[in-house]
Amino acid sequence: MRIHFHGAAQTVTGSQFLIEISGKRILLECGLYQGRRAESYERNRSLPFNPRKVDAMLLSHAHIDHSGNLPSLVKNGYTGPIHVTGATGGLLKLVLLDSAHIQESDAAYVNKRNARRGKPPVEPLYTTPDAEAVLPLLDGHAYDEPFEVIPGVQATFFEAGHILGSAGICLDLSEHGKRRRLVFSGDIGRRGLPILRDPKLPPHADILMMECTYGDKLHRDLHEAELELRDTVQRTFRRGGKVIVPSFAIGRTQELVYCLGRMIEQGEIPQIPIVVDSPLAVGISDLYAKYPDYFDEEAVSLMKKGGKERALGYEYVTFTRSVDESKALNGKDGPMVIISASGMAESGRILHHLANNIGDPKNMILIVSWQAPYTLGRMLADQAKEVKIFGESIVRQAEVATIGGFSAHAGQNFLYEYAKAAASNSEAVFLVHGESKSALPFQEKLNGDNLSTPVYYPGMGDQADFN
Ligand SMILES: [Zn+2]
Repeated sequence: MRIHFHGAAQTVTGSQFLIEISGKRILLECGLYQGRRAESYERNRSLPFNPRKVDAMLLSHAHIDHSGNLPSLVKNGYTGPIHVTGATGGLLKLVLLDSAHIQESDAAYVNKRNARRGKPPVEPLYTTPDAEAVLPLLDGHAYDEPFEVIPGVQATFFEAGHILGSAGICLDLSEHGKRRRLVFSGDIGRRGLPILRDPKLPPHADILMMECTYGDKLHRDLHEAELELRDTVQRTFRRGGKVIVPSFAIGRTQELVYCLGRMIEQGEIPQIPIVVDSPLAVGISDLYAKYPDYFDEEAVSLMKKGGKERALGYEYVTFTRSVDESKALNGKDGPMVIISASGMAESGRILHHLANNIGDPKNMILIVSWQAPYTLGRMLADQAKEVKIFGESIVRQAEVATIGGFSAHAGQNFLYEYAKAAASNSEAVFLVHGESKSALPFQEKLNGDNLSTPVYYPGMGDQADFN
């Protein structure tokens, strides 16, 4: 058996791992690499293996850095099954079509510039029909129910508690009469995240491939993050301002709505208008409501008391779909919360809300997730006094607050617990999906412990053999 590390190797993006076993090939994840434009385009376009020769693929969850290059895989000849959980399949329909739309508009933007400079046009990485072609290949499975991937390989999805439908993948492999268990963590969630069930610890494995995004970091308490959210909303309400929140469409938006709904219900904040203004976030919020089987006990018991809408906090929220509804928000005065995408304020409707509200000191811009360097979101988080939106410089008067505690990734303590559960006296641990500043301290911590298992941090293109 051979494992190839084709992505999310010494970085946190473009997750892609290929397992060769008994003359067959199984792909784990097919994520989009996200970085500087030209480099990303090249990497995503040229897959490092032949998709026609892949026999089956498994996907841990619907985030774009794990799933976003599926349209390229299928466009280049992959015709096998894509094994997912039921909710991941549901999310992918929205996420991949949205991603295709972004690829198309990105290419259109570049082509306009190229035309002015007399350069040839570029093709979008993939198109809407390419994304649509992925959907018939999706094969949904329940958690904890083993299924055959190829003869001699069984897979079982187990709860990862990271976003709706997220799973760790347990593979039972047999080759030349030798049996092995390989656990691939996908992204590992946290205990106590709103709506979602807690992540499950993995079974003991011979080989563990695990993420280590926050391998160096102890998270602050989720409860603390909720208190900060409450205080920020109260403070803005008292001065009659609007709270503008750039937020990722999957997960973070639904968590915020859930928390705000509960605070209104318990009288902790006044019943101010809350608006979710992003077509993708609205679609995904609808989808969350269709999968109550995936909710945790708290959400289920709230649902029994007050119905699904109230349990998810949707009762207090207006979801806007059309551009006209979105524009109408500009004319509305008074306190309100507007949650909109994109999460790093790079594109989408959030830009209009920022442009319209950033100049008023009554208002609040609330940053609730990690912001990549050079994005508008990062500049705001760094308290820039002046920013460029739609090519125009605007002086910021609004307050900017950052709440760091909402991460959907496990911190160091839970990662450690996870590694210990899966890998003691095992053949290998591979740390993936982590920058060196988080992976190396975590590797050291695991090596310092008596796991009696070698811990590796493979680079891009590396491979590991098991006889
Ligand atoms: Zn993820």
